[in-house]
Amino acid sequence: MSGTPFDFFTTNFGKAANALALSDATKDKLMEPERIFKTEIEYKCDNGEMKTASAYRVQNNSARGPYKGGIRFHPEANEAEVKTLAALMSLKCAVVNIPLGGGKGGVEVNPKKMSQAELQSVARAYMKALAENKVVGPEVDIPAPDVYTNPQTMAWMLDEYEKVVGHKAPGVITGKPIALGGSLGRSYATAQGGFFVLRDYLKDQGKKLDETTIAVQGFGNAGAYFASIASEAGMKVVAVSDSSGGVFGNGDQCEVPKLKEYKEETGSLRGNFCQGDNCDIEKMKKAEVEMISNEELLALDVDVLVLAALDGAVHEGNADTVKAKAILELANGPVTPEADEILEAKAITVIPDILANAGGVTVSYFEWVQNRSGDVWTEAHVNERLEKVMQNAYKDLKDIKSENDGVSLRTAALMLGIERLITAMKLRGWL
Ligand code: NAD
Repeated sequence: MSGTPFDFFTTNFGKAANALALSDATKDKLMEPERIFKTEIEYKCDNGEMKTASAYRVQNNSARGPYKGGIRFHPEANEAEVKTLAALMSLKCAVVNIPLGGGKGGVEVNPKKMSQAELQSVARAYMKALAENKVVGPEVDIPAPDVYTNPQTMAWMLDEYEKVVGHKAPGVITGKPIALGGSLGRSYATAQGGFFVLRDYLKDQGKKLDETTIAVQGFGNAGAYFASIASEAGMKVVAVSDSSGGVFGNGDQCEVPKLKEYKEETGSLRGNFCQGDNCDIEKMKKAEVEMISNEELLALDVDVLVLAALDGAVHEGNADTVKAKAILELANGPVTPEADEILEAKAITVIPDILANAGGVTVSYFEWVQNRSGDVWTEAHVNERLEKVMQNAYKDLKDIKSENDGVSLRTAALMLGIERLITAMKLRGWL
């Protein structure tokens, strides 16, 4: 395997752009940001010292609405990567047809070495710079959490923004704590959205949920919620894994709530049964589980392999071992372009990340809608709306696929996003 999710996106975008016969000028216009804001911020350290850090916000395309995308606190920001991620956000919002564009930003700090007070100082200094320069706003650009930022970070940023503008403006940022206007259902929205898409896909294959076996790589936010939602819906979750390794249910499936408990107790899936290489066989027998490696999980003979951990998990070197009939990409870029070709030749369908994990940004959009209207939706209402959005996007994707003989679901999804963006840009006279 070679490359990063950014390289994968660039390759996949190229395929879709070629299928649409886009000119080089149009391709460049879609990939190049409309604005890059860069500044140096000053924040306070616990010893009283002031330090500076580089901060940035990349805004890709606002033809369909205000920019939307995460804020990361990371010591190394690679401008090319951030630009690509902002373009990916514009297309993801277009695929699920929500009226937002794409952005991405962050601050070059190392949060692992910082206290909460220092992180708060960084969050406030960053938001102050964005607000004073009118880079963000509920009608302009609406950030959200990303790598090493979370609802608390969003709460500090909201407070700082409101201080600068002098009035309440909860719609300036999403992924907030519920007590400050966050949306119910946001914590598991990525998994829930992926489930809705998979359910509709299986229906098209004439497959019943209770006859469907799945294996889930990754037992964090996206993967663990997905495993719960899928098993509650009747699917058989035969195996799950995290970075410590995998657990295989040797009845006909795993008991997902129990696995969640173990993970909470010991911090790892294996930890409840094994200390290093020493595994307690009696305990495993009693719990009806076996330990399997991550590579073994990827090669299980299941109906659906759900990838919810790492980018590049299925690559040129292991794609041939995959026996699942379909892959659901909850992670970003878990299947490399080389692996895509191998899987396609084996007639394994990949439900692509740009649609499969778009439930998260969709519920972020719902948060923004609630904040701007002053309404508070019930969890059931959030999920009903999410279901509609994901169902419609999947249906639109199938239409594009059937109109363009031979393209993969991934290429069809990118074509759908690109076409929607281009339509908006043409109407505005930008193209
Ligand atoms: P997380 O950190 O909560 O969970 C990641 C999980 O993957 C952990 O259980 C970790 O142990 C496991 N893991 C790491 N290395 C592994 C390996 N080699 N084999 C098996 N498991 C391994 O992260 P998350 O929020 O669940 O995100 C997972 C992926 O989904 C990322 O690619 C992320 O970008 C994508 N995603 C998440 C969201 C969201 O709302 N959480 C939204 C869109 C996309």
